[in-house]
Amino acid sequence: MFTEPSQSVGKSCLHCKDALRGRSDKKFCNDSCRSAYNNMRYADYNSHVRKVNQRLRNNHKVLQQLLDDQSERLVNESAMISAGFQFQFYTHVHLHPDGALFKVVYDSCYTALERSMYYIARRMPEHLTVGSSKSTHPLM
Ligand SMILES: [Zn+2]
Repeated sequence: MFTEPSQSVGKSCLHCKDALRGRSDKKFCNDSCRSAYNNMRYADYNSHVRKVNQRLRNNHKVLQQLLDDQSERLVNESAMISAGFQFQFYTHVHLHPDGALFKVVYDSCYTALERSMYYIARRMPEHLTVGSSKSTHPLM
């Protein structure tokens, strides 16, 4: 017997799991199964992106709160944690020309120092020092 090569064998709809008939590249019974499947995938993706965005925005807010009206300061890790900061959420990393690796949350940044202290700043600093010129603390 001649078998139609475009007939699928044993494939099922990605949405409802019914057996598929017809072209071998078919993935869904019909358009409503296709759109239901894609809506579910998209909803999943959206909810994940939304959660990550919320955490990033919250981290950004915490940095602004801790900075108050300062452009930079040193802060204890425990103060950041109790303010709700989540260290694993940042938008990118930046290797400062002076050698420190900064984690950046949108435009603000932080980097770990010794003894559970963190340097935080509203913007990436040009030079890695904190404080007035009289009492400057090098970060490195
Ligand atoms: Zn289906």
